[in-house]
Amino acid sequence: MSQTSYITLSRSALKNNVEFIQNILGTTKFSSVVKGNAYGHGIKQFCPLIHELGVDHFSVFSADEAQKINAILPHVSIQIMGFIHDNDLEWVIKNKVSFFVFESDRLNKAIQLAQKLKIKAKINIEIETGMNRTGFHVNEFDAVIKVALKAKKHIIIEGICSHLAGAESISNYKRVKSQIKTFSQIQHKVKENKQYHPKFHLACSAAILQYPKTKFDLARIGILQYGFFPSNEVLVQYITKNSTDIDPLKRVITWKTIVMDTNTIEAGSFVGYGTSFFTNSKTKVALIPVGYSHGFSRSLSNQGKVLIRGKRLDVIGTVNMNMTAIDITECPEIEKGDEVVLIGTQGDNSISVASFSDFSNLLNYELLTRLPSGIKRKIIA
Ligand SMILES: *Cc1c(COP(=O)(O)O)cnc(C)c1O
Repeated sequence: MSQTSYITLSRSALKNNVEFIQNILGTTKFSSVVKGNAYGHGIKQFCPLIHELGVDHFSVFSADEAQKINAILPHVSIQIMGFIHDNDLEWVIKNKVSFFVFESDRLNKAIQLAQKLKIKAKINIEIETGMNRTGFHVNEFDAVIKVALKAKKHIIIEGICSHLAGAESISNYKRVKSQIKTFSQIQHKVKENKQYHPKFHLACSAAILQYPKTKFDLARIGILQYGFFPSNEVLVQYITKNSTDIDPLKRVITWKTIVMDTNTIEAGSFVGYGTSFFTNSKTKVALIPVGYSHGFSRSLSNQGKVLIRGKRLDVIGTVNMNMTAIDITECPEIEKGDEVVLIGTQGDNSISVASFSDFSNLLNYELLTRLPSGIKRKIIA
């Protein structure tokens, strides 16, 4: 049965982005960040696709996401950066999935379980460098390492890591610089202690471009691989530094639907629920079968744009649960069944998530991750 909209993922676009990232990373290991259902692209479709391109390390937020990857790609490396319910820690250790440790309770539970299972737990010690979210404080570090090294038979300290609080904006420069300094001090300390040799990882997409010295052993890359810059600022800086006017990334995702009906409305009428859109003149409208229940945010009411017959057209009225109205007065030949692009390119025009977010006040990340997992994802060349 056909769904009301469909998503395609482009293999060639992803190949382009992976090559771009690998080129920047050099010898640094690429960990593909696929939390939030691979930023809405779909873990099930995206992970095998990028794995075919040579990527074999994945970062997720929670154990259920790790399990999804493990079921499709049993031999890749997976690290959980966030939440693991105590009940799931056994599955994690048994399946050799590594995980961030940011508080002592998890460290102690990991040691106990690993001992019981007779399988070494692979941990990454997360340090609080200034994000003030999760992580051990610098003054706790020595004690934590002491506990972990004492349990060497059951624990592998695979990595030492932290996360930068907003590397995509120059307004956070001082804060980020101070985080990098704190991280480097810890790194220095670890290197002096010859008892363990963890991988250091700090960088996300914005960091490998804005603070290349933070690449270290491994970088956790999310948004870039999907073909989006973390912010306009990072894109502009990249373009300036490289004296190019071409965006080097290609969008992997396209989201489309079709026109379900058209309608002509006389001047002086309200369109849809309530009174948010009033016709000042005779207006031709196309209805599309996509609404906020399908991930087309209500904040796009009277704001969003779509492409039909190569033209950028306005969303009018409020986005409903299942339906949205588009003003097609300037293109009256549009008819039922015409292709509608919600994200992607049609003719010479494109709707990118970045420009999308400009008029919807949503971040790239948020709009993408709100795409329901129930919409089919098809791989195209
Ligand atoms: C989401 C996330 C990343 C990836 O961020 P991008 O900006 O998408 O590259 C890296 N590290 C952690 C801890 C994250 O949560």
